[in-house]
Amino acid sequence: MSRKDFAAIDAAIDYTADRHKYSTHKTCVVCGTPFEAIRSDAEVCSHKCTQRRYRKRLQARLALEAAAAREELDNATRH
Ligand SMILES: [Zn+2]
Repeated sequence: MSRKDFAAIDAAIDYTADRHKYSTHKTCVVCGTPFEAIRSDAEVCSHKCTQRRYRKRLQARLALEAAAAREELDNATRH
């Protein structure tokens, strides 16, 4: 089956009517709120939490990069 066929099948399925079949009880990894996930790989309850998680990850990455840069500077100045 091609990608196009899958798209046609997807369009034919009424996901909202069968929502309970696809939804899963999950807990938001950002705010801890229980929510119904439509996708099994969903981790956050809302778009807001997606953004919050993104910002958290970005901050964590920047902190790591800053730490690495400091270390590099330490190594460069320490002879
Ligand atoms: Zn959340």
